[in-house]
Amino acid sequence: MSYHDILVIGAGPAGLAAAHAACVSGVKVGIVDDNPLAGGQIWRGGPDQQADPRARALWNALREAPNVTFLPQTRVLYSPEPGQLRVQTPTAADTLRFGHLILATGARERLLPFPGWTLPGVTGAGGLQALSKGGYPLQGKRVVVAGSGPLLLAVAATLKLKGAHIVAIVEQAGTPALARFALGLMATPSKISQALGLAARLRGVPYLRDSYVRSAHGDGTLQSVLVQRGKGRELETLQCDYLACGYGLMPNVELAQALGCDTATVGAQTVVAADHWQQTSVPGIYCAGEGTGVGGVDLALVEGRIAGLCASGQILQAHADFGRRDRWRKFAASLARAFAPRPELATLAGDDTIVCRCEDVSHGELRTHTTWRCAKLQTRCGMGPCQGRICGGATEVLYGWRPDTVRLPISPARIDTLIA
Ligand SMILES: Cc1cc2nc3c(=O)[nH]c(=O)nc-3n(C[C@H](O)[C@H](O)[C@H](O)COP(=O)(O)OP(=O)(O)OC[C@H]3O[C@@H](n4cnc5c(N)ncnc54)[C@H](O)[C@@H]3O)c2cc1C
Repeated sequence: MSYHDILVIGAGPAGLAAAHAACVSGVKVGIVDDNPLAGGQIWRGGPDQQADPRARALWNALREAPNVTFLPQTRVLYSPEPGQLRVQTPTAADTLRFGHLILATGARERLLPFPGWTLPGVTGAGGLQALSKGGYPLQGKRVVVAGSGPLLLAVAATLKLKGAHIVAIVEQAGTPALARFALGLMATPSKISQALGLAARLRGVPYLRDSYVRSAHGDGTLQSVLVQRGKGRELETLQCDYLACGYGLMPNVELAQALGCDTATVGAQTVVAADHWQQTSVPGIYCAGEGTGVGGVDLALVEGRIAGLCASGQILQAHADFGRRDRWRKFAASLARAFAPRPELATLAGDDTIVCRCEDVSHGELRTHTTWRCAKLQTRCGMGPCQGRICGGATEVLYGWRPDTVRLPISPARIDTLIA
């Protein structure tokens, strides 16, 4: 049962920045992540392999620090008692003790159901990106990238680099919202150059604004998607081998909830509530990055740094970063406004469209219920292996339900882990 003064959960930008800021004070820092390599979502494949110099600088500093331990392939499941976390690796289980805890568990994609969304070949947008970064072959495959948000551009650029033919990027947000968002980028020049870079890499790829996928079709596997163009009735069929479709991101709040931390509702997101110092409602437990609200890598980095500084008692230094954090929070708010899901997306599922994929529960079975809890009890919706991580985001948009409890362990665990 090892002890760390500060234990960081998540080795994405927020977790790495937190660990780096904390380790400077000399305390013993542990970084836990369920992936084999550090980097989180954006730096998947390892921070030392990234073009972003911030990734390499953080990783090199952490690797050289004698007081930092990285625990890869280690998933946190629950807290057996205050100050302890039960974790599982592919071959063993352990209990980690900590003085202070920093949660940097990131976000996941919001997937919305439509007829055909369970066909092989339909994936999340970031999901297909992650697969391709892991070596999944897409050379010569025709891919439609759809949903909402700047992530679609990053995904399309990655897939194109891997040899895929991007048929189109289908963005549900309308032209006025996109124009307002683009104007707002003036306040964050680094995002403008990032956007221009992506635009150059995606030259020639059709970008269909104000459009969304109505249905996916194929005989056993995906062959085409039907796209609604604009507010009128114009429909277009796009032939493709893959549809990579995601409607923005949702903070991973389950571990924080399991530890008793309060959550808050900010716009359409349920986030971990944190104060100026990134401290949650539970003293000694901090949260940084996408868990406190989706805002991109720059916000994750600055929040992580503030959390790491505060958890290690370097409060004055943390203060110096508040202005930078405010700036990126404004960017995050404009992101949420511009790419909020349009109401039509809640009307696409037919009665026979599966909403809970783990337990095979259809829209027809769910729409007669009034709350998440009631639907769970009557239909087993959200009670399969993903524990509502996929259908929870969908039922929020379709029926306005929010999961009100979290079950332990927060993800599937081996029986020997639990018995021990
Ligand atoms: C699928 C996906 C793809 C993305 N691709 C891009 C992109 O190409 N470009 C871009 O600009 N932004 C991308 N983003 C957004 C990007 O994630 C954020 O901008 C930024 O990386 C957030 O950093 P973070 O440290 O808060 O979280 P993350 O980078 O998500 O890191 C969180 C880490 O915590 C780990 N974790 C979570 N729970 C546990 C647990 N219980 N036990 C152990 N480890 C745990 C996760 O595995 C993950 O490694 C993507 C997001 C997603 C969801």
